Amino acid sequence: MRTVHGRLRRAIAAVATGRPVIVVDDAEKQGYLVFAADAATPQRLTFMIRHTSGYVRIALPASDCARLNLPPVGHQESEPAGMTAQRVTVDFRETGTGISAIDRARTIAALAAAESTAGDFRRPGHVIPVQAGKDGVLGRSPGAAEAALDLARLAMRRPAGVLCELVSQQNPAGMADRRESAAFADCHRIPMISVSELATYRRRTEPQVMRRAETTLPTAAGTFRVVGYRDARDGGEHLAVIAGRAGADAPMPLHVHVECLGGDVFGSLACGCGADLAHAVAAMRAEGTGMIIYLRPPAARACGVLAGSAAPDMVSETVAWILRDLGVYTVKLSDDAPELGLLMFGAIREHGLHVESSAAVWPVAG
Ligand SMILES: [Zn+2]
Repeated sequence: MRTVHGRLRRAIAAVATGRPVIVVDDAEKQGYLVFAADAATPQRLTFMIRHTSGYVRIALPASDCARLNLPPVGHQESEPAGMTAQRVTVDFRETGTGISAIDRARTIAALAAAESTAGDFRRPGHVIPVQAGKDGVLGRSPGAAEAALDLARLAMRRPAGVLCELVSQQNPAGMADRRESAAFADCHRIPMISVSELATYRRRTEPQVMRRAETTLPTAAGTFRVVGYRDARDGGEHLAVIAGRAGADAPMPLHVHVECLGGDVFGSLACGCGADLAHAVAAMRAEGTGMIIYLRPPAARACGVLAGSAAPDMVSETVAWILRDLGVYTVKLSDDAPELGLLMFGAIREHGLHVESSAAVWPVAG
């Protein structure tokens, strides 16, 4: 994972200096050449047009599409949201026909410029603006457009990214897959990342939870300290229920629980959730120390009834951010923890936290 982190940092550094990177769209299994729009030059466009489909897009945030009066094209009410991303094509008014690399570089630079106005562009034109999803690669079904915009933002440039899909060298009638994209990246010494890697990087480097409330919770098993969090991505609300002092030198016994309405509320015997939670509370009471992180994904879960939406890697990242916020750097997880425990182990360690895997007090359940 460290090498992925390093690769992401190199890609962001390249974008910061205006150089291109290759972004692989995991869903399409296709490579895109990407660079910051405010770094557009005739040379960069020439390089892009030579090696790609030539259907050059610029990913913009919704606010800029509105400011520059770039309405969606071909929108029909029945289309899913993602299909309306493409906006009316434009040329900068001071360009010639608009199609040359020189003209397209000027149009792209003008689209990225903060001082441009809607009147600076002719419609239709030869550059295709695309509205990127508001949460970038952390949003729903992200692609190369969201990655291009996120990279420009992370590189502290104007939030606008140029993108175009690489053509296959071996079969110029087709597009470059991941393998060919990697060969192209090697040949031209261009950093390569994928959309999903960028999403992981953002989840690891940007706080994913915000502390909203802190109080004490009197329960039949005793009074616990409780801290409420809101998830930055989906608005889900989570609780950390704590006995003893969080952040103490001794490893904190940790139980992670994903809400199960059936088990937690109704004591359903169709799954082990309710019993696991009750066991965790009893153990916390007996030991006088420990923590239950109770996660509530936005879509309700009830085993055998409602599937919920708790992806294991999202769960482990959320837990890691909550532990960081609480100043808990050493936790105990179970050796025989299921798949979630292993993921948790990795995510927590990525955050510089220490995991004691032996002699765990409670298993990780979900
Ligand atoms: Zn359950």
